[in-house]
Amino acid sequence: MSLTLYKKKRSFKKTPEPEAKKRSQSKSKLRFVVQKHDATQLHYDFRLEMEGVLKSWAVPKGPSLNPDDKRLAMMVEDHPYDYRTFEGTIPEGNYGAGTVMVWDEGTYEALDHEKESTKDQEKILLAELKKGDVKIVLHGEKLKGAFAVVKMHKGGKDPGENAWLLIKKKDDAASDIDITKKDKSVKTKRSLTQIAKDSGGTVKTKTPQRKTKPAPQLLDELEEGAVKKKPRK
Ligand code: MN
Repeated sequence: MSLTLYKKKRSFKKTPEPEAKKRSQSKSKLRFVVQKHDATQLHYDFRLEMEGVLKSWAVPKGPSLNPDDKRLAMMVEDHPYDYRTFEGTIPEGNYGAGTVMVWDEGTYEALDHEKESTKDQEKILLAELKKGDVKIVLHGEKLKGAFAVVKMHKGGKDPGENAWLLIKKKDDAASDIDITKKDKSVKTKRSLTQIAKDSGGTVKTKTPQRKTKPAPQLLDELEEGAVKKKPRK
């Protein structure tokens, strides 16, 4: 997938988000980021670097370290590699309007292939992504250990097409502590409120909503923000 959709949804004169210019260069480790996003509905954007871009999922409840939790993760458009350091407020009227925090970041590996080169791991990960079953080891400040990102309805064209699950695998890093209680930026140590204040925005939501909705509508609410308030043509 290219960054066409990412660019199409945004006006770079109006949002502080990075333009899709460069892809990541080959280097020693693949990176991941989790951004807490106070959009119409608070959610966490889980992003994995693959083929120079960030494969992305919106996770309404955020990640869990408990292997019994299956967290809904709606696949969204690829984001540019530079997006992983973005922290600030997307102004009202723009796609995804609201404040974004770098909640966690670090490197990651393909589970059971940690000894292989980054290039080979990337090939494995892309194949796993295609199959709808990505197995990874995260080395973040908050998220550590093995996780799976699994597609719910494999091969289907039903409304659940973008629905995946983010699940912690059992290992030493598994825990039943609520990791989302650690709610400061790993980049700047600021809270959402502080980031919003510093960038001239306001915090809209304090807790994620627990409504269950058909996947496409949920995705609309997660990502479209102010756009959905306007009548559609
Ligand atoms: Mn988002």
